[in-house]
Amino acid sequence: MTHNPPSQPTTLHRPPSIVALAGGVGGAKLADGLAQILPPERLTIIVNTGDDFVHWGLNISPDLDTVCYTLAGLANPLTGWGRKDETWHVFAQMERLGAETWFRLGDKDLATHLERTRRLSNGESLSSITRDFCARWGIRHTILPMSDAPVRTIVETVEFGELPFQEYFVHQRCEPTVRGFRFEGIERARPASGVMEAIQQADALVICPSNPWVSIDPILRIISPLLAEGRPSVRVAVSPIIGGQAVKGPAAKMFRELGIEPSALAVARHYGRTLLTGFVLDESDSDLAADVQALGIHPAVTQTLMKTSDDRRQLAQDVLHLIEQFV
Ligand code: GDP
Repeated sequence: MTHNPPSQPTTLHRPPSIVALAGGVGGAKLADGLAQILPPERLTIIVNTGDDFVHWGLNISPDLDTVCYTLAGLANPLTGWGRKDETWHVFAQMERLGAETWFRLGDKDLATHLERTRRLSNGESLSSITRDFCARWGIRHTILPMSDAPVRTIVETVEFGELPFQEYFVHQRCEPTVRGFRFEGIERARPASGVMEAIQQADALVICPSNPWVSIDPILRIISPLLAEGRPSVRVAVSPIIGGQAVKGPAAKMFRELGIEPSALAVARHYGRTLLTGFVLDESDSDLAADVQALGIHPAVTQTLMKTSDDRRQLAQDVLHLIEQFV
């Protein structure tokens, strides 16, 4: 094991090979930063599909689409979901016809779901469809769903009992109190084609700053056999919690409702030393670095809020610097 000082620049001529795990918005931003600095053959992004659902008869993969649209430069920067320069003609007509409108689908976005649904119903796998869509959108890095088999995240709530994820997340606006989660179908779901190979060949695993409970945990469950074998040996996570709060979404609320004080340290504990080699926390949480170290996980402190494209690239660079201390 070579230990380079953290300040040493990344050797860009031979960067490490990375597998990144991502959910939606937070994951997509770091995945985009990594894609800016790593050549296509050195980065595979494995995306959560527990949020997938059927709406208006269409197969929708919200996290997969967010990551793909972001890397293709097609994402709406204001909403964090959906397409930029979107129009809403179909949605307006659906509303007029009395269709359910709690989940907004724009015209351009609809094309993705129409074509995905058609191809799935013809028997093509989600990973094959995703590879083809990526090629057509000009994405050169590999993006894969965690599994080709359906996995459905169910949120156990105090007020409504069990809710399918999008019912909780979009329809109920994350308001119900969370008691726990269940990933329907996860026992039967194998990693999608390409996932195991990417992990076997990777130098390091990067857990993007996504929701640990509902975006990352399902992926970890799917790839757990390889992780148990110790592959890849270097694993680094970036905290999605900054200053005790989520940048966006219900992650901090979930920690609280499950009886855990939300903090970057709570995220490091959630993943634990068996999983993680290193943990990246925000400079505003630098006082927690010693506690992360005490868990047996190597901390790295940097600016982790990604507001601009440069922020994404800089954070990706900092993550690679941390990784290069261990590979
Ligand atoms: P979702 O499916 O769209 O909710 O997306 P994710 O699971 O990928 O992301 C949600 C998490 O990403 C939240 O916990 C946010 O706090 C975190 N997040 C979003 N943007 C950023 C960012 O710029 N920096 C960091 N560190 N975390 C972020």
